[in-house]
Amino acid sequence: MFVKKMAMTAVAGAALMTSAAFADTNHVVIGTGGQTGVYYAVGGAICRLVNKGTKDHEINCTHKTGGSVANINGMRAGDLDMGVAQSDWQYHGYNGTAPDKFPDGAYKELRAVFSAHPEPFTVVARADSGIKTFEDLKGKKVNVGNPGSGARATMEVVMGKMGWAMSDFALASELKSSEQAAALCDGKVDAIVFTVGHPSGTIKEATTSCDSKLINVDNDVIQKLAADNDYYAMTTIPGGMYNGSDDDTTTFGVGATFISSTAVDDEVVYQMVKAVFDNFKRFKKMHPAFENLKEEDMISKNLSAPLHDGAVRYYKERGWM
Ligand code: GLU
Repeated sequence: MFVKKMAMTAVAGAALMTSAAFADTNHVVIGTGGQTGVYYAVGGAICRLVNKGTKDHEINCTHKTGGSVANINGMRAGDLDMGVAQSDWQYHGYNGTAPDKFPDGAYKELRAVFSAHPEPFTVVARADSGIKTFEDLKGKKVNVGNPGSGARATMEVVMGKMGWAMSDFALASELKSSEQAAALCDGKVDAIVFTVGHPSGTIKEATTSCDSKLINVDNDVIQKLAADNDYYAMTTIPGGMYNGSDDDTTTFGVGATFISSTAVDDEVVYQMVKAVFDNFKRFKKMHPAFENLKEEDMISKNLSAPLHDGAVRYYKERGWM
C-alpha cells in the first residue's frame, strides 16, 4: 500500500532513522498474476527499473499475484496502488458494466497508465483428449481459471455467448494459472483456457511436458463478440512458438494494461512511468512477450479509463501528447 513511511520510522526508533532515504520512501504495491504468466513479469520489470532509482525519487516498488479482476478490486479497497489488468476488465471496472465482478459499481477513480502486451484467449488441449475444435470442449474436463483472474472472467463471457454452463463440462476446475499446465499433463483436465501474453511460461510448460496443442477459437459467435466490443479483436498466436502448434492459431484477444487510480500521487505515477520509458530498450528485453511493444501504441491503445495525470505529465514532456 502506498504510504509515507515517516510515521513508521518514528516509532521504529533511532536505528531506522539513520537512513533518510528509507524514511521518506513511498512504497508502491502492484497487483500482477501467477508466476508462470506474463503479468508477474510486467510487475517484476517495472519494479526492477523503479527500484534502481529509489535513492533519487524515494519510491520503492513490490508486486504480488492477483489477476485482472482482483487487481482492480484490490486497488479500490486500498490494498494495491497499481495493477495489471485486461483491457475488457479495465473497461468494465471503470464503467461499472459487470456488477457480478465489480459489485460497487463504476470505479471512476480508476486510471490507465499504459497498455502492454497483447493477450490472446488461449486454449490448449492434450493430444489424446479428442478435442480438435473449440466446440469440442463441451463435455470435457476443462480448467476455466480461478475466480479473480481476468482469464476466468473472460471465459465466463465466452461461455455466455456460446450458451454453455459450467455443468456442460465433465469437470470445470478453477486451478490457478501456475497449476494448470501440470493438471493438463497429469490428465486431471483435458484442456486449459488462459488469456495470456505469448510466449508464456504456462503455455510453454503445457506444450513441452506432454503432447498437447493450441486450439483455434474462431466461429461466428466469437467473431461477433470481437466485432461488437472495442476491447476485443481477432488475433493470431504465431505458429512455431510452441511445440505441437506449427501453424498460426486463430482466436480473439485483449490487451494487457497497466492501471492505477486517482488515490496515487501524480509524482509517484510520473516516476514509475519515467523509469519504464527512460529505460524502454531494457524493459523490452525483460520478457519475450514485450519484444514488439511500441511507445505510441502503449499510450493510446486499449485504454478505456482516462490516463493518470502523472503519466500524462511524462508523455507531454516526451512530446508524445
Ligand atoms: N490475463 C490474466 C488475468 O487477468 C493474467 C495473465 C498473466 O498472468 O500474464 O487473469
